Amino acid sequence: MRIDVVSIFPEYLAALDLSLIGKARREKVLDLNVHDLRDHTHDRHRTVDDTPYGGGAGMVMKPEPWGAVLDRIATESPLSATSGNKPILVVPSPAGAVFNQAMAYELAEAEHLAFACGRYEGIDERVLEHAAEAFDVRPVSIGDYVLNGGEVAVLAMVEAIGRLIPGVIGNPESLVEESHSDGLLEYPVYTKPGTWEGREVPEVLLSGNHGKIARFRRNKQLERTASRRPDLIVQLDPSTLNRHDRDT
Ligand code: SAM
Repeated sequence: MRIDVVSIFPEYLAALDLSLIGKARREKVLDLNVHDLRDHTHDRHRTVDDTPYGGGAGMVMKPEPWGAVLDRIATESPLSATSGNKPILVVPSPAGAVFNQAMAYELAEAEHLAFACGRYEGIDERVLEHAAEAFDVRPVSIGDYVLNGGEVAVLAMVEAIGRLIPGVIGNPESLVEESHSDGLLEYPVYTKPGTWEGREVPEVLLSGNHGKIARFRRNKQLERTASRRPDLIVQLDPSTLNRHDRDT
């Protein structure tokens, strides 16, 4: 997969050199490029913002540098102009659709993803209209709160998407039982020692009885989801529940 990230703080994205995403870059599973928006300005001060039309507080990101960098990225896209497939441009925004695991799975299927990190009051709206000629444009929020810029949102999304790409995580089975993979939160996990600070690991986990362990974990998933995220329990497809689940 090719990923392009545009920001006025490319250093913010240095974390994408670390851990599994960094390894995937070095092994060429991910072709991830970070672009400095200011490289696409033409004035001495490398200006990327200006006052808003209509008045109001704050500054707005100017369209010209954004147009230039996005046009360049579209031209370099591995998706051929004739294939009918456009690269996806994710525009982090608190006014976007809320990112979730289903969206991560969908975006992990893409051949080419680009991310446009806004700052200040955001990017001139005409940039999104212009970009829609070459990209499938998706304004996306990582939650109902406001950050100072899109970089932290991109770090979260690239990590969530990247770990779903084959070859990024060593053992793909670890993705199967995770929170949100089946609409439930994950069960609690334990490791050695068996006793720590007077606290025991639940006995069933030492029993070697795989059926009982599976039932214990499933019960914990249901209990935890019901208490922490009742909204997820309400959305659960009843056909995914078995007789024992209904007793829990
Ligand atoms: N004026 C904008 C609004 O109210 O919708 C907020 C702009 S915010 C201060 C600056 C940038 O931070 C946004 O352009 C976006 O890139 C990023 N951002 C802030 N909150 C975000 C969130 N919840 N999810 C994704 N990106 C966010």
